[in-house]
Amino acid sequence: MADTFRALVIDRAEGEKAQTVEWRDMGADDLMPGAVTVRVRHTTMNYKDALAITGKSPVVRRFPMIPGIDFAGEVVESDDPGFAPGDEVILNGWGVGEVHMGGYAGLARVRAEWLLKRPDGLTGAECMALGTAGYTAALCVLRLQELGLEPGAGPVLVTGASGGVGSVAVSLLSALGHEVAASTGKAEEAEYLRGLGATEIIDRAELSAPGKPLMKERFAGAVDSVGSTTLANALAQTRYGGAVAACGLAGGMDLPSSVAPFILRGVTLAGVDSVMAPIPKREAAWRLLSDRMDRAKLTEITREASLDEAVDLAPDLLAGKVRGRLLIAVD
Ligand code: NDP
Repeated sequence: MADTFRALVIDRAEGEKAQTVEWRDMGADDLMPGAVTVRVRHTTMNYKDALAITGKSPVVRRFPMIPGIDFAGEVVESDDPGFAPGDEVILNGWGVGEVHMGGYAGLARVRAEWLLKRPDGLTGAECMALGTAGYTAALCVLRLQELGLEPGAGPVLVTGASGGVGSVAVSLLSALGHEVAASTGKAEEAEYLRGLGATEIIDRAELSAPGKPLMKERFAGAVDSVGSTTLANALAQTRYGGAVAACGLAGGMDLPSSVAPFILRGVTLAGVDSVMAPIPKREAAWRLLSDRMDRAKLTEITREASLDEAVDLAPDLLAGKVRGRLLIAVD
């Protein structure tokens, strides 16, 4: 194991509100306890990582902290019988990058229960091109399927469509044979979204303006990464018996809705969390991504960046200026 490695460190002095973000050389002893030590090869930037790096939300709850809620790499040391040196693994969530040191570093040490063996059929880089955003999109699609969504039922709305969750959701739903209505704030991304399989493009403004408690039944289901009025309007336009999988708050935390869609149309609002999702759900989501995510589309939605660029890219991501997903190679 190398003696030192580079890590991005978010720190905050006792009693201070402002945080510092800097590169440090660290040793394995600086990492937090865990049974498995992993040489990180790839990570990614999700919305939450951007919040952590910019300090815009209190994502980091322990200082100093290495951000990075996702990583892929190979095991270098293990005290757990389930993992041996050389095993390729991935990690998504579990508070890593928030309360446990994360993936923006050459080494990570974590609990064995948090790791998955690299899913069959995907490289570590592809797993990170998908990242938590992609795995969450898959959790949303699986939830809609559990609630009865079938191809041919009608258009499925995807909000925040040009973002990470949205781009993967559009691609996956299209691969599964659904009509996809992609809502975006960026007219210039219409061709990109059609390329991923969207059959209809909706101007984000249409959904973000306050609507009525019930509107014309339009969507068979929805994957919502925006929240707030957009989610309220998605519920109000979901067809009788349909379901909306809500996973995000890019447009706000609130939900200015009513019970009308639930009690008059039997609509289901299904919450989706990726951070503490149990292992069987994770495995199912990664299996779906491995089986059905079109690799050419994955390439299309992925931009590669270096760890050094990460800090500068974080505000852009929060401003909605990053299309699709950011894959970060760690060397
Ligand atoms: P991205 O920044 O990649 O995408 C978000 C997209 O939302 C943007 O590209 C934009 O798409 C749209 N958007 C941005 N700002 C606004 C706004 N003010 N109003 C309406 N739409 C907006 O983020 P991710 O895809 O990685 O994450 C999306 C959301 O999902 C985040 O809130 C994130 O925290 C959440 N999330 C939740 C998880 C969970 O476990 N529940 C896991 C992963 C993510 P466009 O321009 O096309 O409209």
